[in-house]
Amino acid sequence: MASSMNHYQRPLLVLFGILLCAIATAGELTKPDIEQRFQNHVAHTGAAVASGVSLHVGDKLHDIAVWPLYSDQSPDSNPVEYVFETIDLAPIPGFEGTPINMLVEMDVSGKFLSVEALTQREPVFVSGLGPGPLINFLKQYEGLNLRQEITIASGYGNQTSHASGGANRVVVDGVAKATASVRIINQSLLGAALAVARSKLGFAQQSATALPATFKNIPFEKLDLPTLIRRGYVQHVTITNAEVEKLFVGTDGAGLDEAVLKNPDGIFADMTVASLNSPIVGRNLLGDDNWAQLQTHLQDNRAAYWVATSGAYSLTDDSFTPGSSPQRLELSQQDLPIELRDTNRDYARNPLFPNLNAALILAVAPQAGLDPGQPMDFRLTVSRARGSIMPVITQKQLVLHYTPPPELFDYPPKPLPEWLQAWQGRLPDLVIISVALLLLTAMLIWPHFISIHPKRLFVFRIGFLLFTLGFIGWHAQGQLSIVQITGAIKSMMAGAGLASFLYDPISLLLIAFTAISLVVWGRGTFCGWLCPFGVLQELVGLVARFNKIPQWRLPPRVSKFLSRSRYVVLAALMMAAAWAPAWAVKMVEIEPFKTAITVNFQREWPYLVWAIGVLLLGVFVYKFFCRYLCPLGAALTVLGKLRRFKWLQRIPACGNPCQRCRHACHYDAITPQGAIVYDDCFQCLDCVGIYHDDTRCVPKVIYNTKGVTIQVRPSKS
Ligand code: SF4
Ligand code: SF4
Repeated sequence: MASSMNHYQRPLLVLFGILLCAIATAGELTKPDIEQRFQNHVAHTGAAVASGVSLHVGDKLHDIAVWPLYSDQSPDSNPVEYVFETIDLAPIPGFEGTPINMLVEMDVSGKFLSVEALTQREPVFVSGLGPGPLINFLKQYEGLNLRQEITIASGYGNQTSHASGGANRVVVDGVAKATASVRIINQSLLGAALAVARSKLGFAQQSATALPATFKNIPFEKLDLPTLIRRGYVQHVTITNAEVEKLFVGTDGAGLDEAVLKNPDGIFADMTVASLNSPIVGRNLLGDDNWAQLQTHLQDNRAAYWVATSGAYSLTDDSFTPGSSPQRLELSQQDLPIELRDTNRDYARNPLFPNLNAALILAVAPQAGLDPGQPMDFRLTVSRARGSIMPVITQKQLVLHYTPPPELFDYPPKPLPEWLQAWQGRLPDLVIISVALLLLTAMLIWPHFISIHPKRLFVFRIGFLLFTLGFIGWHAQGQLSIVQITGAIKSMMAGAGLASFLYDPISLLLIAFTAISLVVWGRGTFCGWLCPFGVLQELVGLVARFNKIPQWRLPPRVSKFLSRSRYVVLAALMMAAAWAPAWAVKMVEIEPFKTAITVNFQREWPYLVWAIGVLLLGVFVYKFFCRYLCPLGAALTVLGKLRRFKWLQRIPACGNPCQRCRHACHYDAITPQGAIVYDDCFQCLDCVGIYHDDTRCVPKVIYNTKGVTIQVRPSKS
């Protein structure tokens, strides 16, 4: 059963539970702030207003937290840009537990005009790398469009490897040593922008960032009209006079069309639509020569649709000019209006359909945002006017819901969620670390084989520790930190969950393993084997001992008293995280992890002095920082109270009178009575080796050589 809690550890557990952080989840700027930044700001966009026109800021909207920016030169009175804080719309917590807040300026076409970090406490950008790389990272968004698939370069630490993709795909450079943070930032930025797009720009209902389908090159076969219709290659909708009259019921347009009223069963309009890009549709409808000619005309990857009407109503009126957009026809996809333009082809009139009153081949520009493989709506507008002076106009639309036949398209795989891409990019590292963790697990379950031979244990331990320092720490950036614990608590307190950890798979794997090991073996598994900075100290201590540098072994009472200072540091950090986050960001620098591991000693001199100073102390006092200062070690010690097993074996002779293991333990984790103090044990396994070794365990040696029995029945301590 786990030992009872010390009186100074209980309040810390309570503090863990009530880390009362006031996380800012509302925007921080006021209208005057926005005016200061954007009033009279020159519009960059050509989407709605001419470039060079100044803007003015409207009131923050009530339905969604955005500021509209208006221009007097706008052809209508609608906003030409929107400005918003990401924390209002997609508050995804970063590693410190607080959402990163960015101010985004986006035009009505979905183009990012500027992105600026307002508040961020990402440890690596606060100090360490500093804010410069973050500013440069955000600058890359300027000019990109939300309709593009924006992803972060996948290679870890690789700022230049841009995965290839479709024309709509943009890969922005990540930031080495901050890969998880920039993925969270990307997710937050796109999430907020999509919310604005859905609410205000009328697009991005589901897949604005997905790649569009492409036309498949399926073998041509001659098909007759009924087959084309049966397969959905040609689709149509028929509206009777009665149905169109029903649309106007209750409006000023009701009962105005005599011809409709006289013949309710008559066909008002039959609208037919076919996508012409696929040869199996285009060649069968237009004939080989016309289709080939159309392909030449569409060279710029435009999508082309044949739209025709028969019956009483036509898709063109007298004012229609060939080559323009037909006023009566609209195309939309996921509520995104898309412009159709007549290609002015004289072969649009199709002999297969003798009764047409109008037929056009209409093209859609590739940048219009149409996905030809997804359903779309063709809407034919019917207008009626009541009165001749100041007539009241009523408009209704006949809709053809066009569903593209899936066999005509290649659908690109759906882009993986950002967090999954992070896992994909780190797969080799994850596999290697998982194998190492399995090895460590096996060794801790069966410690006898490795520990019984001092040399074997030394080689295994040094090998594993070098792996932890070099691979987990310096290469994979898997140094856990107290920031992750306070960040996780803050995130959960704010109801944001722990999703942000998904973006840092290496840390998540280590956190999961450490959590399990805390319950099974106690805090020593992490501190003794998996903490890169702990390893650095251990190596410093070993080199010092090897060079016979005198070691100061503090008297047990002094050591015990000093070790409590870790809990004071931990409590101070948690309180600062709760009530003074700006202080917490500075205080957390007591951990030299960022300096020594994350940025590999490339920092300003005060941080270097601290990290090197702490390591130098470890030359004389073995693992000084771990034992007397480390807040993470203290937190793990408190959480280590969850340990369910006393797995380090003892015999009654341990401490009574034998003191062999106690003197061998460099961590002073064995009491004079022979009991293991799991709070202080780093699981170096030295005592385990002695315990199993008949030539080193004193009671066993005495028994074997002199036949004197000292009680050697195993017990647990
Ligand atoms: S006490 Fe701190 S520095 Fe030492 S091994 Fe544990 S977490 Fe790492
Ligand atoms: S020698 Fe000390 S630190 Fe090592 S396993 Fe035994 S009690 Fe733990």
